[in-house]
Amino acid sequence: MFRVPTIKSARELISMRAAGRVVAEVIERLKEVLEPGVTTGYLDREARKVISKRGAEPSFLGYTPIPGAIPFPGVICTSLNEEIVHGIPGDRVIQDGDLVKLDVGAIVDGFHGDSAVTLIAGDGDKTERELVEVTRRALEQGILAARSGARVGDISATVEGFVRPRGYELVREYTGHGIGRRLHEAPQIPNVGVGGQGPQLRVGMVICIEPMVNIGTWRTEVLDNDWTVVTADRKLSAHFEHTLAITPDGPEILTAL
Ligand code: MG
Ligand code: MG
Repeated sequence: MFRVPTIKSARELISMRAAGRVVAEVIERLKEVLEPGVTTGYLDREARKVISKRGAEPSFLGYTPIPGAIPFPGVICTSLNEEIVHGIPGDRVIQDGDLVKLDVGAIVDGFHGDSAVTLIAGDGDKTERELVEVTRRALEQGILAARSGARVGDISATVEGFVRPRGYELVREYTGHGIGRRLHEAPQIPNVGVGGQGPQLRVGMVICIEPMVNIGTWRTEVLDNDWTVVTADRKLSAHFEHTLAITPDGPEILTAL
């Protein structure tokens, strides 16, 4: 799955910007409609409407990470509370105070965009709000480290150096990644690591940075549906992700409006 990072041409970047824009529009729509009482399946259908209206395709529906795996059954991933990533949308009713992670991918002209947010249904409590804020800011910091000439380890070390001193842990078995004609390309972008190490970032690379921050242990488990990843101690987790291009002027976020 991970080989050599691809360098996108100016023309390819135009398609990737378009894919990123569709993803951003889906997330905007989901922010509007999320409230206690709606189901995760409803959010999935709203996402599908926006993707279809824009003439795009969902990245995740039918996705198989390895040959023979169960294809992902949703348009988006909806992961609640102790669920970290890859939650499957369905009949589950979102409750007041639920921590809702929405991960969205879309394809335009054969190129993928990928972004995730964590929202709180209702007001939530202080613990949830602080976790969300730290995770959101960790992504911001990671993006600032994504400059041509820097190394992947500089992103990892920046994210880790922001999160762990604040008393949280970072998921290790799942990482950010390169993106382009495939949803997951080289390089892997871990959320823990050592500065100055790993592949060098070059102009034209497009990557996803996606810190997954846990209140308790960094260890994870996968539920019996073969998809949903949860914290091993069932404590809360938050996740933010953007797709960004490395440009001569610094990182350009493709999945923001
Ligand atoms: Mg994602
Ligand atoms: Mg991703």
